[in-house]
Amino acid sequence: MKQLPRVQLAHLPTPIEALPRLSAHLGGPALLVKRDDQTGLAFGGNKTRKLGLLCAAAQAEGADTLITAGAIQSNHCRQTAAAAARLGMGCILVLVGEPPETASANLFLDGLFGAEIHWTSKANRDNDLHAAFEETKSAGRKPFLIPYGGSNSTGAAAYAYALEELLVQDISPDWIVFASSSGGTQAGLVAGASLLGYKGRILGISVDERASILQERIAELAGETAALLADKISFSAKDILVNDEYLGKGYAIMGEPEREAIVLFAQHEGLLLDPVYTGRAAAGLIDLIRKGFLKKTDKVLFWHTGGTPALFADAYRNELSKSS
Ligand SMILES: *Cc1c(COP(=O)(O)O)cnc(C)c1O
Repeated sequence: MKQLPRVQLAHLPTPIEALPRLSAHLGGPALLVKRDDQTGLAFGGNKTRKLGLLCAAAQAEGADTLITAGAIQSNHCRQTAAAAARLGMGCILVLVGEPPETASANLFLDGLFGAEIHWTSKANRDNDLHAAFEETKSAGRKPFLIPYGGSNSTGAAAYAYALEELLVQDISPDWIVFASSSGGTQAGLVAGASLLGYKGRILGISVDERASILQERIAELAGETAALLADKISFSAKDILVNDEYLGKGYAIMGEPEREAIVLFAQHEGLLLDPVYTGRAAAGLIDLIRKGFLKKTDKVLFWHTGGTPALFADAYRNELSKSS
């Protein structure tokens, strides 16, 4: 794979750990976890890897301000704000929602990193993002637009490198399971697998989208990512493994499965998950083990994508402290 320019934001390689007590509790397969919650930048997460490449592209253009969008508790926005601070750049975040009376968790951190926040609605998000970009340019600054979730081919390429990192760690699981949302992580892993000849299965647990839509998006992005790194490869949506049975009551709504997953990981392994992404993906993982879809003889790697600051968002913390 071609080496794209990268700013060193992440602590790599992230460790891989076994989860023997959780595995025994579930009577299930050998479980491993890849600790991308420990990428090192401002509580870490999968966006740190993507931002290493995206920020290098921004710097190559001479940009002085990063602009991106997300949900009120966006991990992507928190890590973008931290990266901007680290690189001496400005940061504008277009967040969907209403400003709360007091900012908690990721939103609190966005402010601490000095990001400028523009509030918007879901319907106006893309327009307002565009408007923020144009206003910043008119003010004589040099903005760089980072797509939603950092998920263009440049951002996704970070996960092709991450798959290479995993193989260099001499771990070749039968399954890689993780939370999939804007699809960049999965697209990068899929592109990397194809370029490096990894034969295990890469299963995204959808957090907020029907499988058919996400599969199409990931197939296209994986193709673009492979083209950026090496060769044009075309991926078919049906070859992208996405499970959308765990959407619950919708994005960022923590239900009983997420709560149970968070408590099980915490109490059996001392490991923290988040209520929105990794909690949902782990709930899917646990259910797929209980159903026998993931077999006892499989080696399963749960790719932890971060997000743990959201545990301290008021609503989730209150809910979890009632039940654990
Ligand atoms: C953004 C995010 C994801 C999803 O990654 P995509 O590349 O957008 O699919 C998963 N987990 C956490 C914690 C995230 O912040």
